[in-house]
Amino acid sequence: MSVLTFKFGGTSMGNAEIIQQVAQIILDSAEQGNQVLTVVSAMTKVTDTLIKAAHAAEKGQTDVYLRAVAELRDRHHETARQLVQHQDAQAALLTELHRLIDDVQDLCRSIAVLGELTNRGMDAVVSIGERLSCRLLAAHLQERGAAALPIDASSLIVTGNTFGNAVPNMEKTRARVQEAVVPKMRAGVLPIVTGFIGATEKGITTTLGRGGSDYSGGILAHCVDADELWIWTDVDGVMTTDPRLAPDARVIPVLSYREVGELAFFGAKVLHPKTILPVMDQRMPILVRNTFNPTHPGTRIQPDPQRTAGIAKAITIISDVHLVTVAGRGMIGVPGIAGRTFGACAREDVNLLVISQSSSEQSFCFVTRASDSDRAVSAIKKELAEELRRQDVDRVWAQENIEIITIVGAGMRETPGVAARIFSALAEENINIIVIAQGSSDSSISLVVDSQDAKRAVQTLHRLVAKNGS
Ligand code: ADP
Ligand code: ASP
Ligand code: MG
Repeated sequence: MSVLTFKFGGTSMGNAEIIQQVAQIILDSAEQGNQVLTVVSAMTKVTDTLIKAAHAAEKGQTDVYLRAVAELRDRHHETARQLVQHQDAQAALLTELHRLIDDVQDLCRSIAVLGELTNRGMDAVVSIGERLSCRLLAAHLQERGAAALPIDASSLIVTGNTFGNAVPNMEKTRARVQEAVVPKMRAGVLPIVTGFIGATEKGITTTLGRGGSDYSGGILAHCVDADELWIWTDVDGVMTTDPRLAPDARVIPVLSYREVGELAFFGAKVLHPKTILPVMDQRMPILVRNTFNPTHPGTRIQPDPQRTAGIAKAITIISDVHLVTVAGRGMIGVPGIAGRTFGACAREDVNLLVISQSSSEQSFCFVTRASDSDRAVSAIKKELAEELRRQDVDRVWAQENIEIITIVGAGMRETPGVAARIFSALAEENINIIVIAQGSSDSSISLVVDSQDAKRAVQTLHRLVAKNGS
């Protein structure tokens, strides 16, 4: 008997048929005597639709948001009818779903009236996707005779008030989960909890950031002291690269926390980068498995690395990024320019994904999210106004159309010649490397390349990994 936390992603909740499969996976595990807490994402694309609706409302495009609301209503209504046949139960479920969708419409109307969309307002809207899917799965499980209980994570996960990217208070969350959920699980209840969302202590809904249901899985696995966290998704496990870019991508059977952290941070969408944080202290294993192919063993993520032959384990890519450069001949020997630049970015809440300094000290550059680069450039120009006036710094600018490609694998630093092999493989393909940076741990090397070369670079490097892999 084990305590398990399962998390099912958007594709796994995409339609009635696959939700039935999700229910089967939960029921099979419970039948084997496990206590299972399940975390769910919204149905595929629902979060995107909600975001689009909120933005349309802000711009006063009533017909656009009403169309989005109608689309959500039809899809959830139809799925509910397929998942729950018992008349009373179906009527009760439909009432609840329609009430939630009415909330979306009301919120959009308020946003349209105000003509303003705050992060708080956005969280109120997008959180409804998970509230809907959670009820669909729970009602279906109930129909199949299980003691499933839908739970809104806003009653469990206590967060700060950084809307859109909220930080959980683990101590308070743990206390609530231990009190409200753990005894129920011991009594045979199957909690079905909304991923992605939390609430401030005052009960105002927050979200944990895009793709954050994985993180909810980690938080709740920690709080119920799970033996394992299983991330159920739409691929067989964590793979040597995104299978959408390289169809020859293979599943990696075992990865360490650090490796997967690096992979996730550098763009492997399969796992949210924060997922491992809450479970690290407990050394909890994380399994990544395929809802659509549940007999595949998937990937096991464990605290320590497993040595394998080969130069690296995986290649990742981050798009929608810009390269910000600070350059000037007068910068040589002027101390503190880099420090002040990074300080200015930090004050603007701009994350720096990769940092690199040219050996001549005449410039340094770093990569930010595309949406942050304008803010970063203005903040730096303000901070370095005096140096710019004196022309110690000539220019601060952002370059678009670049992508970060990262090669991940423990122990690359000790393996001689890794960089050389990477560079010669790319040179053979005529791919220009704009920036090179070694990760802060010894587990990664990142390259910045032009967007038009990016896919080819991933495929080239992936061939290198595959050739040298175990
Ligand atoms: P979910 O909805 O289950 O959370 P996501 O779409 O967030 O699923 O993540 C799964 C997707 O991540 C896969 O379909 C795949 O295209 C993409 N992906 C990117 N990099 C990798 C990788 N290295 N291994 C596996 N999948 C990856
Ligand atoms: N539904 C949310 C999103 O699309 C959270 C998640 O799927 O993990 O970002
Ligand atoms: Mg995801």
